[in-house]
Amino acid sequence: MPEAKEYYKMLTPEFKYPRVFCSEEEIMMAKTIREFTEKEIMPKRHDLEGGWHRNEELALSTLYELYSKAVKLGLTTSNLPLDYGGGGLSPIVRSMINEELSRGDIGFATLIGKIHWIVSIMLAAKRDDLLKEFSPKLVSGEPWIACVAITEPAGGANLEDASLGFKTIRTIVKEDGGDYVINGHKIWPGPGGPAEHFLATKILKGHLGYWTVATFDPNKGREGVTVVYVPPDAKGLSFSTPYKKMGFSWTEENVEIFYDNVRIPKKYRIDTKPGEGADIVEGYIIGLGRLAGSARLVGLSEAALEIVLEFTSNRMIAGKPERERSLFASLIAEMFRGIDIARQYYLSVTWQVMHPELYGAPHSKEMFARFCAARSFAGDVAQFVTNTGMELMGSYGYSYDFHLEKYMRDYKIVKMWLGGAQRDRLDIAQGLYGPFKWAGDT
Ligand SMILES: Cc1cc2nc3c(=O)[nH]c(=O)nc-3n(C[C@H](O)[C@H](O)[C@H](O)COP(=O)(O)OP(=O)(O)OC[C@H]3O[C@@H](n4cnc5c(N)ncnc54)[C@H](O)[C@@H]3O)c2cc1C
Repeated sequence: MPEAKEYYKMLTPEFKYPRVFCSEEEIMMAKTIREFTEKEIMPKRHDLEGGWHRNEELALSTLYELYSKAVKLGLTTSNLPLDYGGGGLSPIVRSMINEELSRGDIGFATLIGKIHWIVSIMLAAKRDDLLKEFSPKLVSGEPWIACVAITEPAGGANLEDASLGFKTIRTIVKEDGGDYVINGHKIWPGPGGPAEHFLATKILKGHLGYWTVATFDPNKGREGVTVVYVPPDAKGLSFSTPYKKMGFSWTEENVEIFYDNVRIPKKYRIDTKPGEGADIVEGYIIGLGRLAGSARLVGLSEAALEIVLEFTSNRMIAGKPERERSLFASLIAEMFRGIDIARQYYLSVTWQVMHPELYGAPHSKEMFARFCAARSFAGDVAQFVTNTGMELMGSYGYSYDFHLEKYMRDYKIVKMWLGGAQRDRLDIAQGLYGPFKWAGDT
């Protein structure tokens, strides 16, 4: 495999992040994150899956050692306000972190993104008390992880379908004296599992718990939705063993979570007024989650393109490097075109998030449509780049040693989670000419 990297100016932070959306300082930050990815993640990409033989000990120790370093670099707390000791940085930097880390490993970027996610939920609800409670752990420099639980056995995409008004949620919260009591069943959230499991490697400091989408009454639709925080050691909480999957094996240990009369203090209901829970779920959990996914898919696609560029510069076809043959050059150009357009688009949408007075809040149907356009387009680009890239590399692309097969396995779920590619398209239509309801809705 060619180790020496060529220098591609158009793929460097200085040339790929346009100044119209970001400051010089933010570009410098992207450079730092890129250096971290090059130095720390790239050499360990295979180890994050435990190598060819999927050695769990190797996977978890590599993951949490890298995670600890990223936490020390401040990557998890970029969107935590300065007042709480965080970076107080813009959503553009959150996107850059997602893109740059995903060049190395999209599962690793997702684990970092979980902390951005829970901070954004607390910020959306203006819960200064909770930010105060959690920030000492977040800024301690110690590695803590977190999980957001949405999907249920009756369907993930249904729950994420705003036109169904959240009436399909079956995780129920009831008031009981001074507390809330939760009963329900989530599937697929990650990383999840018994609290002690995450201490086994002796590297992680611990799990911060489960930020759970639930309802007071499914019949109340939007008015019933709530987000509750469930501590990792809450009584009544239990877990399945992790699912076996095509990728994301340890970066995201996905489990089923059972809530059996789980009691939490009232302060752990994140939203504070009727309707706010639905806005947070739509705008900040699903919407910004899809936007983060688009940045990650762009980073993954760029890494795949770089592999293809290196390979085709060395592989000779009838006496000439492959990439100098016009058919192959045009395919490489199409890969770059897709990646660059997907990046410009997600950055533009991220910039619009920073100007709600002009474009609407994250839960507005128009902004939501744009999050979906960004994610679905970036997902299609990742599919094209990994597939076409593999074809240009032939059997070498299919082999373990060249890493492309891993990127190909990983992009797929980022396109499918949080409602998936079809839900994205329907939500774009909803933003453009909705709201409309599906025939047969109750
Ligand atoms: C690696 C991994 C990580 C994950 N992480 C998390 C996590 O952290 N938290 C969490 O809660 N979940 C997580 N999930 C679950 C994931 O978000 C859901 O699986 C996904 O949203 C789709 O839900 P589903 O599998 O139930 O598919 P279904 O809802 O059964 O959908 C199947 C197909 O039908 C389509 N479809 C179904 N209903 C509709 C509808 N109403 N409108 C349009 N299309 C529809 C879908 O787009 C899809 O194509 C994860 C899954 C994986 C594999």
